[in-house]
Amino acid sequence: MCGITGYIGYRDAYPIIINGLQRLEYRGYDSAGIVLYDGNDIVLSKTKGKVSDLLEKAAKEISPKGNLGIGHTRWATHGVPNDVNSHPHTSQSGNLVIVHNGIIENYDTLKKELINRGYSFKSDTDTEVLINLIEEVQKENDVKLGKAVQIALNQVIGAYAIAVFDKNKPDEIVVARLGSPIAIGIGKDKKEFFVASDASPFIEYTKEAIYLEDEEMAIIRVGKKVKIRKIHDDSLVDASVQKLQMNLEQIEKGGYEHFMLKEIYEQPRAITDTYRGRLLREDGIIKMMGVEDNMKKFLNADRIIIVACGTSWHAGLVAEYIFEDLARIPVEVEYASEFRYRNPVITENDIIIAISQSGETADTLAAIKLAKSRGAFVFGVCNVVGSSIARETHAGAYTHAGPEIGVASTKAFTTQITVLSLIALRLARAKGTVSSSDYRYYLQELELIPEKVKMALTSDDHIKKISEIYKDATNFLYLGRGYNFPVALEGALKLKEISYIHAEGYPAAEMKHGPIALIDENMPIVVIATSKGHYEKVVSNIQEIKSRSGQIIAVVTEGDVQVKEIADHVIEIPETNEGFTPLLTTIPLQLLSYHIAVMRNCNVDQPRNLAKSVTVE
Ligand code: GLU
Repeated sequence: MCGITGYIGYRDAYPIIINGLQRLEYRGYDSAGIVLYDGNDIVLSKTKGKVSDLLEKAAKEISPKGNLGIGHTRWATHGVPNDVNSHPHTSQSGNLVIVHNGIIENYDTLKKELINRGYSFKSDTDTEVLINLIEEVQKENDVKLGKAVQIALNQVIGAYAIAVFDKNKPDEIVVARLGSPIAIGIGKDKKEFFVASDASPFIEYTKEAIYLEDEEMAIIRVGKKVKIRKIHDDSLVDASVQKLQMNLEQIEKGGYEHFMLKEIYEQPRAITDTYRGRLLREDGIIKMMGVEDNMKKFLNADRIIIVACGTSWHAGLVAEYIFEDLARIPVEVEYASEFRYRNPVITENDIIIAISQSGETADTLAAIKLAKSRGAFVFGVCNVVGSSIARETHAGAYTHAGPEIGVASTKAFTTQITVLSLIALRLARAKGTVSSSDYRYYLQELELIPEKVKMALTSDDHIKKISEIYKDATNFLYLGRGYNFPVALEGALKLKEISYIHAEGYPAAEMKHGPIALIDENMPIVVIATSKGHYEKVVSNIQEIKSRSGQIIAVVTEGDVQVKEIADHVIEIPETNEGFTPLLTTIPLQLLSYHIAVMRNCNVDQPRNLAKSVTVE
């Protein structure tokens, strides 16, 4: 989500932190900030924008002195990107400062309690709640900073990597981690320490690092051994110091060769972040403010029209099946670029859902404006907090996938489907179109998806071998039915985008109406044949292909017998209810296109002619 960094030692902290933030910008780039202890007090500068904007602003407003400091490059989740919401955040007294990566799920409850105790808040972030909670704990219990952080974190639900210091005790940095990464660089003779989301900010200073594990916190003091404890039970942890061998570029990509691969592998985490604080399985509820606040509108809607482009349009198609299947609301899915130019019939009883990773897609924005001018209620689904689409829509839900750097969208797609599934389920419950036992089952299944994505990712080597066989093909066909028809479209798009192989996605049954003419022994055909997705029909389609000598790569549910006998290659995914299978079947297709593109020496992260965010019409 974001990048955090810090320094304590004998050198000037400012250049180390700024340089580190620049290296961490791939993790988030909507705002940046730094706070230093100058030997007397703290000096702080923060701004909306990139680290380069921070450099300009800081040069004007602070004199960057001091050997202790922390910095942040933000990817907003709570509160739009602006100067005030940027990190670092200070506590009410101004004594404590924090940088935070992650989401505090119960920030709203904690904030209300703190307001009752006299706290006021400058920003809209969850992070400012956390630093004030730490201050309140410190005051109430008269404990040191480390203990206060620990007690506070035990009251927090969510994910975090944090670095905190107290200007009245400027000889330590306290760090903690749950769900977001944090590395501690150990300087020679413990004369200095570095803190960062990954090792890139300190790679030229030290090759020795400790990576905190989840639920661990550390107190970092110059000249002392780093003391690590478990946040929940206070037990001491024997930290293992690792020797860094990676170069800078490898570290930024988390050791992966490309951002696309890193983002494919990030999906279990990204999907969890998407439903974090929304899918409350134990309470048996889904809570999404944008939906709750507008429930009447959703329930009275005549239909939902989804507008989007590219991969987001495919996520919209999956959503069409989910909404109609579970919530029994009629859905139409439109290319934004067609919708905006064709004088569509829109009424006040229509709900428009606009989907866009960047929240800046020009055609989708224009479609939103058109729909609004005709009185429709517009709901946005995007990844970038505070983006134009987030501002232009009446309400919405963020995907919280974190920055997507690879131009070919991967985690944006699966997190969009996750958000849309949550909305569909919430509406289904409100409308009574699913029974309470089915509803509970769906919540449970959705919660298990990240684990199942992890299992799907274990086929990577197998997929690499399949890629080797088909990397020189000139055409590919992708087939799927029902929920997996849009996945076939998305699989074909991914291959086209990054490997420049011509590929078409079709509903499997449509094959007979044209594409079957293309099939011969040179044509690889990817078929999605999940056990509950019209399985028998898909098996017949596979037979038809085999009779024409086509090469079948089938994505099947684990334990499959029948397809295995006829297909040339099978890739297994774990079982789940059919409605959530797109979240799993799409994984092997992402990997297949990735490996083929790498083998063809294509520029995977920046394919020719494409841009990450299409801001032209
Ligand atoms: N939740 C925090 C915010 O919105 C931190 C987000 C991040 O990881 O950048 O400011």
